[in-house]
Amino acid sequence: MDLWKICEMGHIHWGSQGAAGFLFRYAPVGAESSYLLQRRATTVDYPATWGIPGGAIRDGESPGAAAKREFQEEIGPLPSYRITGVKVQDCGGQWKFHMILADVDREFQALCGKETVATGWFTQNDMTNLDLHPGLQIWLNEQLPAR
Ligand SMILES: [Zn+2]
Repeated sequence: MDLWKICEMGHIHWGSQGAAGFLFRYAPVGAESSYLLQRRATTVDYPATWGIPGGAIRDGESPGAAAKREFQEEIGPLPSYRITGVKVQDCGGQWKFHMILADVDREFQALCGKETVATGWFTQNDMTNLDLHPGLQIWLNEQLPAR
């Protein structure tokens, strides 16, 4: 079941078991990598920010299975992909978001399903000009060279 969860830090999170989503990367040889982002609907938390498709992990579901299900609901058919890593973000209060990093062979066309108003492919540099979901902002800050 999807439920709101109040973590040890007192934040209110969607997903009693945590949440998961895919960060798809297209990494062409000799050019900057691009990433598939989703602009969130105005009806969800962090409305209208750019983030990655994902959502609450259900009882008995693995983070990977949750990420696949959410992608299909929010974006559309999954491309073929290779998982390159998983980044677990803890809010500081034992609530976790599992960011599944995966490479794809091209910038496949992403549709807009549930809770999604736009999708697009962006380089890390492009992302610095977007209004990002806080979880994605944390990831981006870790990727960019210290300034
Ligand atoms: Zn929290």
